[in-house]
Amino acid sequence: MTGQSNLGMDYFETLSNTNGPEWNANLWPPFTQISSSTPPQKIKEAQGALLLRENEPPLIDAISSWWVTLHGHSHPYIAKAIAHQANQLEQIIFADFLHPQAENLAKRLSKLTGLQRLFFSDNGSTAVEVALKIACQWWHNKGESRNQIIAFEGAYHGDTFGAMAVGERNLFNAPFEKMLFPVSRLPWPSTWWDDEDIEHKEKIVLDGLEKLLKTPTAAVILEPLVQGAGGMAMVRTEFLQKLQKLIHEAETLLITDEVLTGFGRCGSLFAFQRAELQPDLISLSKGLTAGFLPMGVTMATEKIFQAFLGNDPNLTFWHGHSFTANPLGCAAANASLDLLEESPNKYLNFESRHLPHLTKLAKNPKIIRPRLYGTIAAFNISANGPKGYLNTAGKALKRYALEQGVFLRPLGDVVYILPPLCISDAELEKCYFVIEKGLQAIA
Ligand SMILES: *Cc1c(COP(=O)(O)O)cnc(C)c1O
Repeated sequence: MTGQSNLGMDYFETLSNTNGPEWNANLWPPFTQISSSTPPQKIKEAQGALLLRENEPPLIDAISSWWVTLHGHSHPYIAKAIAHQANQLEQIIFADFLHPQAENLAKRLSKLTGLQRLFFSDNGSTAVEVALKIACQWWHNKGESRNQIIAFEGAYHGDTFGAMAVGERNLFNAPFEKMLFPVSRLPWPSTWWDDEDIEHKEKIVLDGLEKLLKTPTAAVILEPLVQGAGGMAMVRTEFLQKLQKLIHEAETLLITDEVLTGFGRCGSLFAFQRAELQPDLISLSKGLTAGFLPMGVTMATEKIFQAFLGNDPNLTFWHGHSFTANPLGCAAANASLDLLEESPNKYLNFESRHLPHLTKLAKNPKIIRPRLYGTIAAFNISANGPKGYLNTAGKALKRYALEQGVFLRPLGDVVYILPPLCISDAELEKCYFVIEKGLQAIA
């Protein structure tokens, strides 16, 4: 009902390029089976939406370099803020000390999210780990035993153990299956334009949730509005509100993993705002530093924070990372917020830039399930052959687009455009043009 998972796609990556680059003998690349993949291309420079290659035309980065680049590559304002900070204070232990960039960022994010407390970590996975640990310890500190965690089929929350546990169980985490803590799971009622079955799909999930919530539940974790790695699977805001009502009735906690959806990606500054949710914990990373530096944060309400106060050492949240609140990361994040605040229309209006292109593309009989939130436009290729991650049409389209100067990275049969905010109208148009041509060429 939620469509097949696309999470295994990267494993089957088999671009062939005979006179291309060689594999580096010292590197172990992420999500790559070296024996069946093409070596990566070398990039020494990127500007705006363009990846600049030596002796070859530039590539439009239509996926924001794995969804992190927010305002554009090498944005001068953020580069300058980082350089300035590096000359003042590059790092400081964040227990016993703090620094102005961290204070400023915490103040701004708590104002923007409405969640008062900010806990720093290093990436999206750790921002999720922290949210899960805080949620579980919150109940522990209150002396209440609640062991169930509810997550969704198709979810992706990162690659560390806790994040794997709440994510969809698949090829990627099969070797660790026995070591992952149990999680109760519900289907994700993803939808698209002209989806006639949506009420029915949502009802099944909501009925299922109501049943699960009869068991004492520590938290429900979800990717608000869009499941990213699960295939840009979008749900309706109405569904999320009904879901939240059940969560409130069961008095459990809601964790929104906004690692992808945060910072304007879904048309509002945070996806939970567009969906009118009131999360207890929010995980943020990716666009947090505009894609310049690895950093994660977990926002928590004051209600959560208060349960960790007291003289009993058992109440303490004993968690921390060496690079907690790295000043360079904080400087990048503050500079990025400056840019978002300076021109909010760039993310508020992005959907209207995608819309005419996607509407036109949707008429192509080779595409099905068009869908759109903010900067993220997606559809499935309606191709013969296996569905989901074994489908090869996405790979063929990727290869075609690369030749035409557009970098796409389909998730199986799911193709998406998730560009940085700076992409020009001409560049965006080229992405759609190349997809349209590519669909003709590959079939
Ligand atoms: C990418 C992603 C993560 C993991 O973030 P990393 O920085 O890669 O560890 C977690 N949740 C979601 C929704 C993501 O898209």
